Amino acid sequence: MPDYVTFTRNVFLPVTNVCRNRCRYCGFRREPSDPEANLMTVEEIEQILKQGARFGCTEALFTFGEKPEEHQVFREWIDNIGYFSIIDYLVDLCKLAIECGLLPHSNPGVMDFQDIKRLKPLNASMGLMLETTADLPAHEGCAGKKLSERIETIKNAGKLKIPFTTGLLIGIGESMEDRVQSLDTIKELHLRYRHIQEVIIQPFSPKPGTVMAGFPEPAHQEMVDTVMAARSILPDDVAIQVPPNLTRFEELIGCGASDLGGISPYTIDWINPEAQWPQIPELAEKLRGIRLRERLPIYPGYVLAGWYDPGLGDLIERYTDGDGFRDGNRH
Ligand code: SF4
Repeated sequence: MPDYVTFTRNVFLPVTNVCRNRCRYCGFRREPSDPEANLMTVEEIEQILKQGARFGCTEALFTFGEKPEEHQVFREWIDNIGYFSIIDYLVDLCKLAIECGLLPHSNPGVMDFQDIKRLKPLNASMGLMLETTADLPAHEGCAGKKLSERIETIKNAGKLKIPFTTGLLIGIGESMEDRVQSLDTIKELHLRYRHIQEVIIQPFSPKPGTVMAGFPEPAHQEMVDTVMAARSILPDDVAIQVPPNLTRFEELIGCGASDLGGISPYTIDWINPEAQWPQIPELAEKLRGIRLRERLPIYPGYVLAGWYDPGLGDLIERYTDGDGFRDGNRH
């Protein structure tokens, strides 16, 4: 058992649900012609950021569809608000988050070196799920799910020394051997660049109206086996995260997981809107005496090693204690 389990307090900002990919399990994506397709306005985002700051959050989690400007209609939307691409818009949204006192953690999907470089000074950490190294029907026709592109993005973040989050999606048609290969790939990337702060082991969760709506969720035992495999394959300085709204996390903690990811007191999990996050007292109760420690979106080891841009220094130093964890007394 770990001495403690970590989490962050965040707000989740789904900037747009338009995406160039069509993952067969995705319940988040909308066609631009769908009445539910959206692009959040600056005002909407600012309101959430300010409210998050009032709730004591430290993380602004920007997660949204990949390269949505590949759709003509979206190009018109983004042009109408004065931007050329979603990354251009994200740059300004990250600045806004920092002004509001939150540290951005962006997940824009695959990106080239220059885009990652633009975002680095404005992000405490960034992320891209590797998901799997296997070539699966679940990703058929998704340009962004090409393995070489995903590895290149993670590699480029490493070259730029960005604390990075990646992970596996469990139960989308991959085998246990595929999972081991995915973990080996992440391990190699980390050994080369030392930038992987955490690996999420996330179970597939079927969504109504998707091609994979009838696919079964992975059994709890598969999660147990994968978390154990992750702990034995990955170096000790890489944390294993399990989402507490989708797993029997209290049992996975005993198998090697040590982080619960972002818990929001204000926003929902937009990727799994049906699954509410347990709140802090409930988490603490289920952990039965294992201490819960709040961290920032940048892990303590990277805080202490100074892996952040000077522009984020004020906030990071204001929010952390001498060990790089969240200092609850400083707001
Ligand atoms: S890349 Fe993400 S948002 Fe886009 S379809 Fe796949 S899961 Fe959905």
